[in-house]
Amino acid sequence: MTHDPNCIFCKIVAGQIPAKKVFEDEQLLAFHDIRPHAPVHFLIIPKLHLASLEEVQPEHEALLGRMLGLAPRLAREQGADNGFRTVVNTGIDGGQEVFHLHVHVMGGPRPWKIG
Ligand code: 5GP
Ligand code: ZN
Repeated sequence: MTHDPNCIFCKIVAGQIPAKKVFEDEQLLAFHDIRPHAPVHFLIIPKLHLASLEEVQPEHEALLGRMLGLAPRLAREQGADNGFRTVVNTGIDGGQEVFHLHVHVMGGPRPWKIG
């Protein structure tokens, strides 16, 4: 499935619900997390609906590489100029809440709300 009509991030991709976008191209979208855990906290997602890392196939590896490769540039642009954390929660025990693959990028001066 390339688009899941019940998926909240697919709805953001489709413009059906608003998000504060930080980057968009044909394959990827990045937007601010609605409940930030750090002064800078945004999510990088593929526009393609992949529920989690568990669904990733070899043909998605370039897409995953692009997601991570984009993180440092966007982190800098958002003001995280002293490092950042990337997190990918996978599955129930991984603490995943939204089942559309996403990379969290968190940065900015500490202390943060968590970790
Ligand atoms: P997970 O726990 O799945 O790794 O993280 C999902 C993240 O998505 C959470 O940090 C949550 O705050 C964020 N989130 C959930 N719903 C929305 C939404 O409608 N808009 C935005 N911008 N972020 C959301
Ligand atoms: Zn989706």
